[in-house]
Formats: sequence, C-alpha cells, structure tokens
Amino acid sequence: MFEGVRSPLIYTPRSLSEFATVIGRHPQAILWAGGTYLMSRSDYYPTEARDGIIDLSYMEELKRITRTDRYVEIGAMVTARQLLSAGRLLLPPILQQTLSSIGTQIVRRQVTVGGSLCISDARFSLSTTLAILAATAEVKRYDNGKVTTHWIPIAKLYEKDGKLNLGAKNALLTRIRIGLEFGDFQRFVVFGDPIRRSDECGIVALQAKREQNGLSKVQFCVTFPGKAFHISKDIESKLSGSALPIHPEKVNILSHELVAELTKMHSTISELQLERARRIFESFLHDLNSQSLL
Ligand SMILES: Cc1cc2nc3c(=O)[nH]c(=O)nc-3n(C[C@H](O)[C@H](O)[C@H](O)COP(=O)(O)OP(=O)(O)OC[C@H]3O[C@@H](n4cnc5c(N)ncnc54)[C@H](O)[C@@H]3O)c2cc1C
Repeated sequence: MFEGVRSPLIYTPRSLSEFATVIGRHPQAILWAGGTYLMSRSDYYPTEARDGIIDLSYMEELKRITRTDRYVEIGAMVTARQLLSAGRLLLPPILQQTLSSIGTQIVRRQVTVGGSLCISDARFSLSTTLAILAATAEVKRYDNGKVTTHWIPIAKLYEKDGKLNLGAKNALLTRIRIGLEFGDFQRFVVFGDPIRRSDECGIVALQAKREQNGLSKVQFCVTFPGKAFHISKDIESKLSGSALPIHPEKVNILSHELVAELTKMHSTISELQLERARRIFESFLHDLNSQSLL
C-alpha cells in the first residue's frame, strides 16, 4: 500500500536563525507544531512532491511564557496544557475556559498555541477568544533571504471566511501578547463538535467592561469553523456605551441585526447555526442584565 512512498525529510532547527536558513532552502516544507491538525487531514502522509517537514519542537525560544506589569507573552510552541497550568493565576478566565474546551487532556498536551492559530482554512476556539481579548501575534515573514517582523492583532490574521493570512507564503508565528487589563464580563460558548461535526458548530465569545450603569469596550466574535470568522464592529459600538440593563427590545433588535449581518456576509452558515448563535448572543446580554440588577 505504501509502495513508492518515502519518509519525508525532517528538519529540526534549534533557533530562529537556523529556522531562517532551513525555510530559505526548503520553502515548500510543512511547519509541524503539535501535529494534531496536520495528522487529522486525509492527505497528511507526506508525499515525495513535498519539501519535507520543519519540526518546530526543538526551538526553545518558542516555548517561553513571560510577563510584565502590562502583558503576558506566550511562545507559539507552548501547549494548551502548559498554558493552562502556568497561567492559572495570570490568564483571563475566558482564556482558561477556552483552553479547557479543546479536545481531551491528551489532545491538550499536544496542541500548541501557534498550531491552533495557524490552521490554514478553519478557525476554532483559540482564535475566537484571542480576537476578543485584543491579543497580538508576532509574525516573521521570510522572503528571498530577507526576514521581517510584524506585530499583528489576532483579529486581523484571518479573512472573513476564516482563512489564515500571515501576509507571506513563508511565515512563522513566534509568540502572542495578551494585555492584562480585561473586561469584567466574559462569556465563551462552543456549540456542536468543532472537529467531528464542524459543519454544525459555532463558537461565540464576548467581553465587556461594566462601569457604573453602563457598558464599555465591548468585543464580540463569532466563528463557524471552515465558514466564517466574524467580528461585528457595528454591534460592538452599539453595545459600548449602552446603559444597563439593556432594554429587552434592544436585545432582540441587536440579535436579529447579528443574524442579518451574518447572512449577508457569509452565505454558507446554516439556519440552525445562525439561530443557535443568535440565542447564545441574546443569553449573554440577558446575563449581563440580570447581573446588573443584583
Ligand atoms: C481529537 C481532537 C479534538 C479537538 N477538539 C478541539 C476543540 O474542541 N476546540 C478547538 O478549538 N480545537 C480542537 N481541536 C483542534 C486543535 O485545536 C487543532 O488540531 C490544533 O489547534 C492544532 O495545533 P497543533 O499544535 O497540533 O498544530 P499542527 O497540526 O502541528 O499545525 C496546524 C497548522 O498550523 C501550522 N503551524 C503550526 N505552528 C505554526 C507557527 N508557529 N507558525 C506558522 N504556522 C504554524 C502548520 O503548518 C499547520 O498548517 C481538536 C483536535 C483533535 C485532534
């Protein structure tokens, strides 16, 4: 069955400068982080046509977690499990909830931050949550022997259908940065199974800051894996500045505006996905309201 299939060449750079040399020589090579997504593809067994594999797991500089007074930086090769245990006191609750929702303990041991953010064609939980936390990513682009470094908001790494765009054919996400000032209201819900039934799945996340009787800095993202990565600036700005509690009629209007926006911009989302996302969005706002009455 595997006649004629040769093992791929595997390159193991130990630093960013070694990586630059390897990617310069093998521009078609596949970057391998935890391998969980790559191995789940039907065509994952590398064929001779490919240019080998670059295994990122020897690059210690991609495994660091550091913090300052204002932000925490997390290397691309930090796993979901490491981040959960190292960041319990440090990370916003919504990020902990997101990481805990990824697969099983065994999967979380393998899944990396960079691998989660750099799947080429589908967005899942971590991209959604980091987008609303206004996290940024350091991306290195490799072009004809020249390396350039860019800090890009995670919300801007993706097209509206969720496809990854690192800005160059050869690029490496090296670390992410998350500010330590976050909203005191955070919600994250996944419905459906992102991997086995991604067609029926949706991921919804919202954060906001509550001040006196009003809301500020509302950030909202809804993702349908393989179909859409949606940040609604309109809904964010209509909610920011709203007085609490939000009138039930306004909740109803906003949730239907969300559906109208999603339908207009992303034709492939099913009716059921739309309805579930709408109800979850409404439930977030009702939750905000009931807490404001305590
Ligand atoms: C059983 C199972 C259940 C799962 N459940 C969930 C779930 O509930 N929610 C959820 O969100 N996800 C879930 N996942 C998906 C999981 O999030 C992805 O498989 C995972 O994020 C990929 O991470 P990885 O480190 O294994 O990446 P890999 O598979 O190694 O790589 C993924 C892609 O990213 C590229 N890449 C990797 N690192 C970099 C980098 N630093 N710079 C540029 N490109 C890079 C690779 O070339 C590849 O294209 C599940 C996966 C499995 C197997």
